[in-house]
Amino acid sequence: MRDILTTCVYCGCGCGIYLREEEGRVVGSSPSRNHPVSRGNLCVKGWHLHEFVHHPDRLTRPLIRKKGRLVPASWEEALEYTARELGRIRDETGSKGIGVLSSAKCTNEENYLLQKFTRAVLKTNNIDHCARL
Ligand code: SF4
Repeated sequence: MRDILTTCVYCGCGCGIYLREEEGRVVGSSPSRNHPVSRGNLCVKGWHLHEFVHHPDRLTRPLIRKKGRLVPASWEEALEYTARELGRIRDETGSKGIGVLSSAKCTNEENYLLQKFTRAVLKTNNIDHCARL
């Protein structure tokens, strides 16, 4: 059993957190007392961070809706489908047909890239962030 210092992935606060590893599985979470952001505190999401890692309901591969049912797909198939459909919607509806929501789970760099992609490729200013929902 060992505790591994890392950063909570649930939001942009970036609290310091220890994940407890036991026999190759993540089994617990606890706060880092010395972390400059969180100083030994975690919110309820941080305390339960370890629970999703091995959860049986966790999505581990893309799903594509086909005839009303979500069907497992490869990453190549999902990316190709998404690119094709976003292009089609952009071409058919213009900037009003697409909106993008970014995530607090992304890094600053990923959020920057997403707003660039939205504006330069999808040709819309409809980009927002889950923190404002
Ligand atoms: S512990 Fe809570 S406040 Fe801290 S990073 Fe995780 S989700 Fe955000």
